[in-house]
Amino acid sequence: MSLLVQKFGGTSVGDADRIRAVADHIARTRRNGDDVVVVVSAMGKTTDDLLRLAGDVSQAQPPRELDMLLTAGERVSMALLVMALADQGVDAVSFTGSQAGIITDSTHTKAKIVEVRGDRLRDAMQADRVPVVAGFQGVSVERDITTLGRGGSDTTAVALAAALGADVCEIYTDVSGVFSADPRIVPEARRLGRVSFEEMLDIAASGGRVLALRSVEFARNHRVPLHVRSSFTWEPGTWIVEEDAAMEQAVVTAVTHDTSEAKVTVTGVPDRPGIAATLFRALADRHVNVDTIVQNVSAHGATDISFTVPRDDLAHSLDVAGALLPEIGAAEVQSDDDIAKVSLVGAGMRTHPGVSATMFETLAAHDINIEMISTSAIRISCVVRAGRVEEAVRALHQAFELGP
Ligand code: ASP
Ligand code: MG
Repeated sequence: MSLLVQKFGGTSVGDADRIRAVADHIARTRRNGDDVVVVVSAMGKTTDDLLRLAGDVSQAQPPRELDMLLTAGERVSMALLVMALADQGVDAVSFTGSQAGIITDSTHTKAKIVEVRGDRLRDAMQADRVPVVAGFQGVSVERDITTLGRGGSDTTAVALAAALGADVCEIYTDVSGVFSADPRIVPEARRLGRVSFEEMLDIAASGGRVLALRSVEFARNHRVPLHVRSSFTWEPGTWIVEEDAAMEQAVVTAVTHDTSEAKVTVTGVPDRPGIAATLFRALADRHVNVDTIVQNVSAHGATDISFTVPRDDLAHSLDVAGALLPEIGAAEVQSDDDIAKVSLVGAGMRTHPGVSATMFETLAAHDINIEMISTSAIRISCVVRAGRVEEAVRALHQAFELGP
């Protein structure tokens, strides 16, 4: 008998039929003799709809109230799912994030989990009931309702799996796993059978939208095996596990792309110690997640610094940088939101030189200009014009022979 955490994303519980299908699957899991803790997202596009509504009534949108609003979405799904389970003869009980004991810091709209208590979930399981938990939410140390950032239900699921010592955390979604590229752009993209936590981290960080980045970090740190699979076909999907010698070590595992970032450039920055520190500390204090950073060689003692930020953070990144201009003695702040990032990820890159060269040659052959480059041990990313990114993904997928 295993303990499974099963998380169902928005499309998996998108309407009444889908909710009944999910209830049926949970009932079958129980009949197999496994224990299960369920985590649900808000139905379909509910979170987007609620955000739009907030935008229609308010410019200010106090973050505390935004969180209060958005958490309603997951409440709807959890209650409906428990009702559908009742019809299947499964004794289940719903819990908000707060009731489940998911304690977070106080950073509204992107809170971090600091502790998972889970007592009520353990009690429910003791009583042979299936806990159904609202994803994406918690309660802060100051007792306010918080959310974990978009896609946060994945993080809820992994955090619960870690806290409860689950054997696996199953992430049910509308795709059948993690692919060698986005199948909507590259039809011959392959489903990957097994991916290491490290690779998945870089895939998620560079635009692979299947799993929220934070959830992968959590899974790696707590060694929770993840299984990403479809709630439409119910077939086995992609396992995300610890890297082991038996794993097929492709040089490149996947091509990812990200169109959600924008570029900020601060020009005429004096070239002296402490300037970058001042700028990026100020951005960090405003919780902006800066990605690729490029600083040019200085000419006449001044240089340009460019960096990318999530497009949602562009406006206040520009405010932060703009406000610092006098202090750091820079000339001006420019922005460009017509960029995209294309990346190659693969654990084999550690030991195979030449991957960047082939990547750059491939882009050059397509006359795609590279504007920024960044690398990690197992990833190379290039920022290009947004309009060219799909062509870049297809070209790289072919150049590295990632198809079947
Ligand atoms: N409902 C939230 C969102 O749309 C959380 C999630 O689906 O994981 O971002
Ligand atoms: Mg989601």
